[in-house]
Amino acid sequence: MSQSNCDLHIHSDYSDGASTVWKIVERAAKLRLDVIAIADHFWPSLGSRRGGMKLIEERRRLLREMNSVSSRLRILDATEVDINADGTLAPIAGGTEQFDLTIGSLHWGCDSTTWASTVKKAAERGKIHILGHFDGYLSNYRQEDGRIVARALAKSNVAVELSTRYRPVHNDFLEAARDAGCVFSLGSDAHWTSNVGNVEEQVMLAEALDLPLLDPSHL
Ligand SMILES: [Zn+2]
Ligand SMILES: [Zn+2]
Repeated sequence: MSQSNCDLHIHSDYSDGASTVWKIVERAAKLRLDVIAIADHFWPSLGSRRGGMKLIEERRRLLREMNSVSSRLRILDATEVDINADGTLAPIAGGTEQFDLTIGSLHWGCDSTTWASTVKKAAERGKIHILGHFDGYLSNYRQEDGRIVARALAKSNVAVELSTRYRPVHNDFLEAARDAGCVFSLGSDAHWTSNVGNVEEQVMLAEALDLPLLDPSHL
């Protein structure tokens, strides 16, 4: 398994993605990916009007079935949860512990200082594995805030996502996170089948900045 041969942030039609799980898996298999994470939002996280145990369990059964028939590809049962302004996560039926992987993301605009205190609190709560699209909603960036976030993420073993949909703008944060000891994850944030696995640029970015990639076999 190669750590660069995966896509750990994909949405299906169980939330706001356009593709069925089957179509996603078909594309990932065609690309010969090793690991994918189907990371749907569930109500009340933004991006989904639907949630509840019934839906989550139905999706889980389907993912297990797909896993059992796919020989090479490993499919992770993941979720993307909103980080609230106080650093808590949006509630999710059954809790986050039931998932192989939890991505925590800010889906509201904020400045650098608010971002730092919110993400630090979210990391310290120990519920997320990956910080999704870290600067996707950031209005400005200050290096001292970046260092606070980098230290908090490293301490709580939260990986920093290199997003395709929200291309990182603040490479100096990536360097600060690397120096603090963080690992990095690859995520297309695909909402369409054709975007699944589109992480080549992010792999190049990781190589250029010498960013160590998350090893999904530890999940
Ligand atoms: Zn998101
Ligand atoms: Zn997403």
